[in-house]
Amino acid sequence: MEFELPEEIRLLKETVRRFVDRELIPIELKAMDGPDLRPEVRSALEAKTREMGLWLLDTPKEYGGQELSLLALAVIWEEMARTVAIPPRGPGIFGPSVMSILLNLRPEQKEKYLLPVLRGEKTAAFAQTEPDAGSDPAHMRTRAVRQGEHYVINGYKRFISHVKGADFLQLVAATDPEKGSRGGLSVFLVDLDSPGLSVVRENHHMMGDVTYELALDNVKVPVENLVGEEGQGMREAQSWISRNRVHQATHGLGVTQRCLEMIGKYAQQRVTFGEPLAKRQAVQFAVADLYTKYQTGQLLTHRTAWKVDKGIASRHDAYMCKIYCTELGFEAADRCMQFHGAMGLTTEMPIEAMWRRSRSYLITGGPAEVMRATLAREVFKLYQ
Ligand SMILES: Cc1cc2nc3c(=O)[nH]c(=O)nc-3n(C[C@H](O)[C@H](O)[C@H](O)COP(=O)(O)OP(=O)(O)OC[C@H]3O[C@@H](n4cnc5c(N)ncnc54)[C@H](O)[C@@H]3O)c2cc1C
Repeated sequence: MEFELPEEIRLLKETVRRFVDRELIPIELKAMDGPDLRPEVRSALEAKTREMGLWLLDTPKEYGGQELSLLALAVIWEEMARTVAIPPRGPGIFGPSVMSILLNLRPEQKEKYLLPVLRGEKTAAFAQTEPDAGSDPAHMRTRAVRQGEHYVINGYKRFISHVKGADFLQLVAATDPEKGSRGGLSVFLVDLDSPGLSVVRENHHMMGDVTYELALDNVKVPVENLVGEEGQGMREAQSWISRNRVHQATHGLGVTQRCLEMIGKYAQQRVTFGEPLAKRQAVQFAVADLYTKYQTGQLLTHRTAWKVDKGIASRHDAYMCKIYCTELGFEAADRCMQFHGAMGLTTEMPIEAMWRRSRSYLITGGPAEVMRATLAREVFKLYQ
């Protein structure tokens, strides 16, 4: 059994870590304007990442990308999550990410949608969540009904990210509501300027994210914009949703790493009642536990990423990573805030931003309770 990262991934990790320390942490409290980076910061950082060869990391080689393994991406994402400089849910600074349904398209769909995304000419949003179908997409009400060479779509979506300025949606709709997520949901590419499609309102979240509510009123979508087979929407989405869960897990790891760095320094400097905080058992035990959990979470995440790369991961592997590491990230940010006292609550430190972001990951990408319930069913099957 080999526990060391391959040499090329280790070098990549060191490069990204240096980049984060030198270029991102110094600007992290002033890099963003609302939900995104300031335009001048974005262009400067993207110029640097291009120069460093850190561009189109997850894009297949046939489209000019680096096609990095999920293990390599996980290592990069963790290092990036040590800073709050970059928006938590993208867009990142390594060029367009295609870790989505876009990779499952047919050649003519790739020509029209994927390639313009890679050239930076188009952007996409993913629209699944609805008022009555969040964690439970099986009960979605948005319907797509085939009429000749079109599907006619009616419904309502909410909490959809990255709609502002986007060109099209990767939209999930029910084509056979009776079947729910077992063959009843399909994915469509829907242009945002389609007649009948309107942005109804914005929702502002505590992490700075803005999401949108969308109404679909008899929106006509050509049959050629169906992704894959009708009714296979969830299956199509599953592979990249698992990758996204690994991504979210690495956020928890990066936050934990940074919090350990911050607690470590501060606890040895800050003196209360005549002794450094580091001499207090309450702080020592918390640091020891966080460090142990960090090592555990990283092993779990690297193993899952490795399994995904080998094609042998189940969605439950990704659930375990997401549950464990996102809860760890929140615990680390919370302890870090506590040990920094009032300083930890100020916006002069990154702790409160890490805390807010980590809190949100306990809900987005699937609440932990829902994943635990599904995981438990699998565990019971193992131990009948
Ligand atoms: C910032 C942000 C960005 C987002 N971006 C997108 C996007 O781009 N596209 C998109 O489609 N969606 C997006 N979402 C929506 C997100 O995926 C959903 O919020 C999430 O899936 C949870 O759905 P819900 O909010 O409707 O919660 P619900 O499903 O209503 O669940 C509420 C709570 O009930 C509990 N619960 C639910 N089911 C169970 C159960 N079976 N057992 C025990 N407890 C349970 C959990 O505590 C859960 O947190 C975004 C959300 C946010 C906040």
